[in-house]
Amino acid sequence: KSRELIRRQKDIDSSAVAYPEDIPIAFESGKGATVRDADGNTFIDMFAGIGVLNVGHSNPYVLDAVHEQADKFVHTVDFPTEARLELIEKLDEIAPEGLQGNMRTVFGGPTGSDAVEAAIKLSKYNTGGTGLVAFRGGYHGATSGAMSVTSNKKFKEAYTPLLPDVVHAPYPYPFRDDKSPQASVDHALEEVQQILEDPYGGLANPAGIIVEPIQGEGGIVTPPEGFLQGLRDIATDNDVPLVFDEIQSGLGRTGQWWANEWEGVTPDIMTTAKALGGVGFPLSATMYHEDLDTWGSGDHAGTYRGHVVGMRAGTRAIEYIQEHDLLSHARELGEYLRARLEEAGESNPQLAEVRGKGLFVGAEFVDADGHPDGDVADAIQDYCFEHGVLVWKAGRHGNVLRLLPPLVLTRDLAETAMDVIVDAVEHATT
Ligand code: PMP
Repeated sequence: KSRELIRRQKDIDSSAVAYPEDIPIAFESGKGATVRDADGNTFIDMFAGIGVLNVGHSNPYVLDAVHEQADKFVHTVDFPTEARLELIEKLDEIAPEGLQGNMRTVFGGPTGSDAVEAAIKLSKYNTGGTGLVAFRGGYHGATSGAMSVTSNKKFKEAYTPLLPDVVHAPYPYPFRDDKSPQASVDHALEEVQQILEDPYGGLANPAGIIVEPIQGEGGIVTPPEGFLQGLRDIATDNDVPLVFDEIQSGLGRTGQWWANEWEGVTPDIMTTAKALGGVGFPLSATMYHEDLDTWGSGDHAGTYRGHVVGMRAGTRAIEYIQEHDLLSHARELGEYLRARLEEAGESNPQLAEVRGKGLFVGAEFVDADGHPDGDVADAIQDYCFEHGVLVWKAGRHGNVLRLLPPLVLTRDLAETAMDVIVDAVEHATT
């Protein structure tokens, strides 16, 4: 049945759809951290729709509210609703300390890319600047502004000119930089400083700095301590907003509400999406300090400025995480996943580095000469799919195994999944 659905999809869907093709899987249903395919096979889900399903597939606590809301109404543009105000208040409650109580939220549309566009517009609007500092390895979305600040040429070379004034600074990546963590941070910060402060630095009229606190698509690249604080200081010194893109790393994924909390650094603007819609409803938001709330009514317009059902789902999902203390669970279970991978890497030089925080986990693979090896990650993914575990990949060379399971993943399921993943690593590298 899965093969048949895939065949039908190939006939009628866009050629841009992307999923691993070697192992035929078409989804039929999902529950918690498991999904069932059209042929009745059950899989442990270690990628959660790219970090969307933090409270699990079709979480019943969230769905109760979804059904109730859908029966009342679904769409209101910006007219006040309980659902809208509740979610804004909830976001304020869980915001990084420096934004709590003095934050505004704009729902700019359904996708993460929309939230990034809003962050870019807000930065430009408030500073009058045009230039943006972004980072190598960064991913921010598929719309023109978001593509401009994304660094991978593959995503954007066919669509230039994009925003003209974007300079990509190095992101600290000690493993690839072949530098100590401190040297890697110092190098990145010096470059950012130069871009903004040196007359030859490249940005004549800066509007802001946009960065992922942990790079997701880039390969779960987890910067050493000091990087985010360094950016905070540079942004303040240069009087430009610091934008944290928390679309993949936020809403509990790392065992804190926001990845930036690991360093206690507060941005001026923060984007969120993915898990914001609770159980997969498309919803994104840009949260920002009230000092930047200068737009006039209607200045940032759009039709889908907050899916009411998605908003209800989002609030309920946050409540669910709070009530079940899933942040602690994510921290503990993340330690377990990393420990299993590290153990596997001790005797296997091809598993070169394990990274991440909480349930945002990456393992980087190299060939016998230490070069990035995407084929190994491919083989691991295929093996896992064949053996009932859904895993994803990331990284510039597709050589990073990426695990971002629902936060509701149980220890039992995690152990079963890790047994398969460790077998997959052995199978793919020997
Ligand atoms: N920013 C980050 C950090 C992301 O990981 C993504 C999606 N992978 C986006 C922005 C874009 O989100 P969307 O695909 O919903 O437009």
